[in-house]
Amino acid sequence: MKKIVLASKNVDKVAEMRRALGKLPLEILSLADFDDMPDAVEDGATFEENALIKARFFAERTGLACLADDSGLEVDALGGLPGVYSARFAGWHADDLTNNQKLLDELGKVGVEQSAAAYRCALVFVDTDGTTFTTSGKISGTIKNVALGNGGFGYDPYFYIDENKTMAQLSVDEKNLISHRGAALKEMVFLLGKKFS
Ligand code: IMP
Repeated sequence: MKKIVLASKNVDKVAEMRRALGKLPLEILSLADFDDMPDAVEDGATFEENALIKARFFAERTGLACLADDSGLEVDALGGLPGVYSARFAGWHADDLTNNQKLLDELGKVGVEQSAAAYRCALVFVDTDGTTFTTSGKISGTIKNVALGNGGFGYDPYFYIDENKTMAQLSVDEKNLISHRGAALKEMVFLLGKKFS
């Protein structure tokens, strides 16, 4: 069976991708299956560039086809930030708590309590024969400076999908149905299905 490696050590993302790819005739590995794998340098200007950097880097290191993702939040009032800096908005040792605090601080600095925003996700698959597929997904919403809900991760408690409901109030399945990553995965599963089934 064709082996592919998912370019992530994030347990939740790997589980989500495994579930989406589950019906395809693929043996799915992740970076957790390889010892001492170095990190890729994610210095692209867009989510697509970063996903391509990761997919090429780990395809070369592992000798296997690789599927990589990159995602983040774009806030209109902040000129599109945190964007590709979403994971490390508050610095190299940032976590969800410090990133969200930084988000609130930056909104405060520009004097707004809420702003239009979007989550974006890019997925890139690079095969051993060089075949490359790119897909993307987006969900629009509003960032408000009041947190609601305990689900999801990252900026979800501040990301409103309608007037009163945040991403953090959705179940995993509900989130996947509408999310940026869910949309990019659906399209990627379609492309991989055509190539491998
Ligand atoms: P990546 O792991 O390099 O793609 O970084 C993605 C970062 O963007 C995460 O650390 C979060 O801060 C943010 N992000 C991406 N997708 C989501 C989401 O679905 N909910 C909340 N935050 C997200």
